Amino acid sequence: MKDPSLRVVGHQWARDAHAIKDFLGRNQVAFRWLDLDRTRQAGVILEREGLTGAALPVVLLPDGTVLEDPSLEALAEHLGMHMHAERTYYDVAIVGAGPAGLAAAVYGASEGLSTVLIEGEAPGGQAGTSSRIENYLGFPTGVSGAELAERALSQATRFGAEVLTPLSATGLAINGGYKTLELSDGSSLSCRGLIVATGVAYRHLPTEGLDRLTGAGVYYGAATTEALAAEGQHVYVVGSANSAGQGAKYFSKFARTVTVIVRGPDLAAHMSQYLIDQIDQTSNIEVVPHTRITKAIGENRLEQIELENNETGEKRTVPASFLFIFIGGAPSHDWLGDAVLCDEFGYILTGPDLLENNALPHDWPLPRHPFHLETSSPGVFATGDVRHGSIRRVAGAVGEGSTAIQLVHRYLAEHHE
Ligand SMILES: Cc1cc2nc3c(=O)[nH]c(=O)nc-3n(C[C@H](O)[C@H](O)[C@H](O)COP(=O)(O)OP(=O)(O)OC[C@H]3O[C@@H](n4cnc5c(N)ncnc54)[C@H](O)[C@@H]3O)c2cc1C
Repeated sequence: MKDPSLRVVGHQWARDAHAIKDFLGRNQVAFRWLDLDRTRQAGVILEREGLTGAALPVVLLPDGTVLEDPSLEALAEHLGMHMHAERTYYDVAIVGAGPAGLAAAVYGASEGLSTVLIEGEAPGGQAGTSSRIENYLGFPTGVSGAELAERALSQATRFGAEVLTPLSATGLAINGGYKTLELSDGSSLSCRGLIVATGVAYRHLPTEGLDRLTGAGVYYGAATTEALAAEGQHVYVVGSANSAGQGAKYFSKFARTVTVIVRGPDLAAHMSQYLIDQIDQTSNIEVVPHTRITKAIGENRLEQIELENNETGEKRTVPASFLFIFIGGAPSHDWLGDAVLCDEFGYILTGPDLLENNALPHDWPLPRHPFHLETSSPGVFATGDVRHGSIRRVAGAVGEGSTAIQLVHRYLAEHHE
C-alpha cells in the first residue's frame, strides 16, 4: 500500500465515486474516503481548497494535485501507473492479470522470455476480489485475494515481466508467426506467443432498477471498498456459489445482518461444504431459499428491493441499502474477433477440444495437432476461466498459466525464423 494521504471526496451513493474507490482499492492504492453526507471534514476540505463548486468526486493527490471527476485512465496516469509498453516486440504477451496471467508472467519472465502482461482493470482478476481464499495450496489459514495478487505481481516484476495496467487489449492481427495486439490507448505491440487469460466478467442481472442503481447501493462482487459504509446495516447478498458465501462471511463482520437470497432450496448445489458450515455457524447470516429479486427501488440510491418466492409466487418489498450480487460470469473477448474457435457459451476451445471426430479444424495450418492449451490459431494459448473445460479455481488457473509458458517455448522453437 502506498500514498496514505491520497483523499477522495464525494457522495457515498454516487456511481463515479464508487468507480474511483473500487479502482484504487483493487489496485492497492491506499486512500482516505471523505463522504460529504457523513463527514463534516469532507466539506471543510473542499472549502479550504477553494473547491466548493468542483465536479465531484474530487481526488486530492499527496503532491497537491487536485483532480475533479477524473477518468480512471487520467487518475492512473497521475498515480504514475505503468501504462505504456517499453518495447514494440515481446517473445510472449499475456492478456489478463488474474491468477492465470500472473502465473504465466512469473514463468515467462523467470525463464528468459521477454514478457509483457496487459491488464485492463487491476491485477488479481476475480481472485483479487475474494475476501479469503481458503483452498489454495500453501495457505492453511487462507489468504485474501488482494494479498495473493500483490505477492504474484511483485514476483512477476522481480523476474522482469513488464506489467501494463490499466490497459486493455482491443484488437488482434495475426501475420504468420507474429501477432499484433491493439491496445486501448491507441498503441500496439507485437509478440510471437500470445496467452489469453482474460477470465470471465460478472454477468449482470436484467432485473428492473438494478442497472440504474449499480454503484449506488447495488454492487457486483464483493466491492470491499463499500464494506465500511455497510457497518451496522442490513446487507443483502444474491448468489449461491462460493463467491457469494465468501461475500456473506465478509460482510457479516461489518453488517448488523446479512441475508443471502438463493433461487434453489439451499446452498448445497454450488457452495463448498466448508463455507456452508461457516455460514451455519454465523449468527447474523440468514439464508432465504426459493427466492429471486424482481425489482430494485430507489430514486438516487437503493432504498428497497422486491423479492419473489419462486414456489408460491408471493412477492414482498423490503427496505435495503446494500445489495451485493454474485451470480457468476461469462467470458468476454470480442477483441479476438474470429481468431479463435469457441464453444456455444463463448469459452475458448484448446488442444484436444478442437478436434471434431478426431479431425483438426479445417483451417489449422500445421502438420502437428494443437498443443494442450493452444487455440485454433497456432501460438495463441488460452488459460484459466476463459478456456472451455477449465475448473474455475485459482489453482487451476495458476497451473494453466505456468503450463502455457512451456508450450510457448515449444512454439517458439518450431518458429525460430
Ligand atoms: C469473489 C470470488 C471468490 C472466489 N474464491 C475462490 C476461492 O476461494 N478459491 C478458488 O480456487 N477460486 C475462487 N474463485 C474463482 C477464481 O477467482 C477464478 O477461478 C480465477 O480468478 C480465474 O483466474 P483467471 O486468471 O482465469 O481469470 P480472472 O481472475 O477472471 O482474471 C482475468 C483478468 O483479465 C482481465 N481482462 C479481461 N479482458 C481484458 C482485456 N481485453 N485486456 C486486458 N485485460 C483484460 C480482467 O480485468 C481480469 O483481471 C473466486 C472467484 C470470485 C469472483
